[in-house]
Amino acid sequence: MALIKCSECGNEVSDKAAACPKCGNPINEIESPREATTKTTSSGALAKFIGFMMIVIGMFMAIAGAYGSLGGVLIFIGIVLFIMGRFKDG
Ligand SMILES: [Zn+2]
Repeated sequence: MALIKCSECGNEVSDKAAACPKCGNPINEIESPREATTKTTSSGALAKFIGFMMIVIGMFMAIAGAYGSLGGVLIFIGIVLFIMGRFKDG
């Protein structure tokens, strides 16, 4: 957490605050484009999540034994998706 100076009154305000408590000037107005960046990285997060789920399901299949080879394939695809998700995030 950092303190930034309010552009209206010069009062020191937390950068987490939505508005200056002294004059009500909105603080995070300039930082709003960050929301767009988090939305674009969510596709990478989704790929990582799906990859992680496939690894977990594949492991259960491998442990169960019945679908041993299929579980291995799922783990492999899951790892590939997980790595792809990491690259998308970076
Ligand atoms: Zn202010």
